[in-house]
This record gives sequence, C-alpha cells and structure tokens, in this order.
Amino acid sequence: MAKKGKSDQRRQLSAVADLIEGVVTRSTGSWYRVRLEDGRTIDCRMRGNLRMRGIKTTNPVAVGDRVKVHLGDPDNMIHDVLDRRNYVLRKSVNLARRAHILCANIDQAIVVFTIDHPVTTLGYVDRLLVTCAAYHIPAVIVFNKVDLLQGDQLARLADYRSIYEQLGYPTLCISATDPAAQADVQAMMKGKTSFLVGRSGAGKSTVVNLVEPGLGLKVGLVSEFSGRGTHTTTFAEMFPLSFGGDIIDSPGFKEMVIFDFNKTELSHYFPEMQPHIGHCRFGDCLHENEPGCAVKEAITKGLVPESRYHTYLGMLEEIAEPGW
Ligand code: GDP
Ligand code: ZN
Repeated sequence: MAKKGKSDQRRQLSAVADLIEGVVTRSTGSWYRVRLEDGRTIDCRMRGNLRMRGIKTTNPVAVGDRVKVHLGDPDNMIHDVLDRRNYVLRKSVNLARRAHILCANIDQAIVVFTIDHPVTTLGYVDRLLVTCAAYHIPAVIVFNKVDLLQGDQLARLADYRSIYEQLGYPTLCISATDPAAQADVQAMMKGKTSFLVGRSGAGKSTVVNLVEPGLGLKVGLVSEFSGRGTHTTTFAEMFPLSFGGDIIDSPGFKEMVIFDFNKTELSHYFPEMQPHIGHCRFGDCLHENEPGCAVKEAITKGLVPESRYHTYLGMLEEIAEPGW
C-alpha cells in the first residue's frame, strides 16, 4: 500500500461530512464490527484521538455503542461515539480502578429464573434486579422449566411470580424446551436489544434457541452472575434476531458490578422502597435499626416483601464503604 500524500489526507478530512451511523456488534479492542443503518456490516478501526478522550474506562467503544463511521481506504474509521442511554461495566482485569464497558444501549435484561434444576434463590434474583436498576436497564423475569415443577414448587412459582409482578416486573412462565412458548418469548424480545442473565443451566441458551433456532449454540451465554471474580478476556457480541431485535452475549455479565455505589443509595434500587425512603425520621437512614424508619413500617404493612428486605440487608453488609 502506497503511503498517503497530503492531498489524500485533506480529502479524507473533508469527507468527514459523509459519516454513516451504525451500531457496534463486536469489539476485539483494535477492530470493531459495525452494522450500518443500510444493513451492511463492516469492520472498522477507531480514530486515534478518540482513545484520548477523558473516559475512565479501558475501552472507549463497546458492543451496542452507536457510532459514526467514515468509510475509507484502507480502513473504515469510527469517528464518533454517540451518547449512551445506559451501559454495563465490569472491573478491568489489570487496572483495579478502571472499568471496562461490557455493552451499551440495552433495552432489557431477561432474568432466567428456575425454581428448581437449578434452584435459583430470591436473593440471587434480587441482586440481579438491583444491579439492573442501578444501570437503568429495565428487567423482565422468565420463569423457566415449569414443566419440572410439582406440588409445593408450583405454589412457590405462583408466590414468586406475584411478588415480582406486584413490584412491576413483567414475568413469563415457560418451558423453553416446549415450542408452545415461542410466540410469547419472541413478543418479549421483538424490536429490543436484550441480554440474558441467570444461573448456569437455567436455560438461557435454550431460550435463545427457542426464538431463533441455532443461535443459542453460537451464543456462549455463560453469564452466571456473581458480582466478583476474575475474568479471562473474551469479547461481547451482538446477534440479530430474524423477527426483529438483538441479543447481546457477553461472558463478562457474571462480573457485572455496580460502581460508585454507597450504602445510602441501595434502597433507591428497590422500587417498592422508594415511596417510603423520604419519610424516615433520619435523612441518612439505612433502614436497619433506626427509630422512625418508614421502610420498616412499610414491611409490617406488607408493602415491601420480607424476602426483598432480607436481600437488602445482605447487600448492605456486602457494601464496603465508600464503594463496593
Ligand atoms: P444455560 O446455561 O442457562 O444456557 O442453560 P441451557 O440452555 O444450556 O440449559 C441447560 C439444560 O436445561 C439443557 O439440558 C436444556 O435442555 C435444559 N432445559 C432448558 N430449558 C428447559 C425446560 O424448560 N424444561 C426442561 N425440562 N429442561 C430445560
Ligand atoms: Zn429508614
């Protein structure tokens, strides 16, 4: 390839006017796959000085980012990243104080919840929901493997479902192995960018296969949530759904963490506690043992489920001041 002359550079600069918008579907750190508005998929590099912006993350561009691209020779270039609606972070492996953006602009998190095979606890689900709330990501709950439940387990399913429906989370009860559930799950995903989270073995890949046969195999979906641990580098990817919408897969979802999160904020991520928070006697009430606590009052009235408060207290303990 011949070295570019000055006139070429000028031509390239003046061509910045014809930038095309697209969404990043894959990122390896040096190359980015971008789906353009016209449907074409191209590989791009990123303009050098974009890296120099003052974002305190290890990666300035992530899957789900909307970008402006200049089609060029030899390389297509990402010129700009549009403002993010939301994003998910995980701790960077090497730089403890910096974060890595897993993905951006997510419409919903689909929490796959199994009463049994494997047992998913309310605490586990509540932690996921709190994390999503902190990231401004709407969450929906899919109770899966209902074909395996009987007796007490079915009663528990009904009980759990009513807890979360009352909190305002949409729910579905399905058997992902039964094609009868396909239309309902497709309707839930249609036109949206979603990611699935839940325990390993809960059926995330099976749910993806149900709506888009074959895709679940491509999608790794090893997204068990723990909130801690280390992570070997693997890249997130966004897969289009033939009926409209996208699925984001990232092995890093299990390291999904909340940053700059302090004890007084925690209750704000429990939607049912929110109306009561301002009515506590003390402005900095943590709703533990303080007198005149409106949240504790709401629990005795049945306005905040006991199980959620139990998770709240557990999470409060886990938060080491000043961050988490
Ligand atoms: P993932 O780890 O969350 O992706 O879980 P998989 O999708 O790999 O599912 C784990 C196992 O559960 C597989 O053997 C699936 O066939 C099975 N499975 C998934 N959904 C259902 C269901 O609704 N009913 C039953 N009986 N088995 C299911
Ligand atoms: Zn209180």
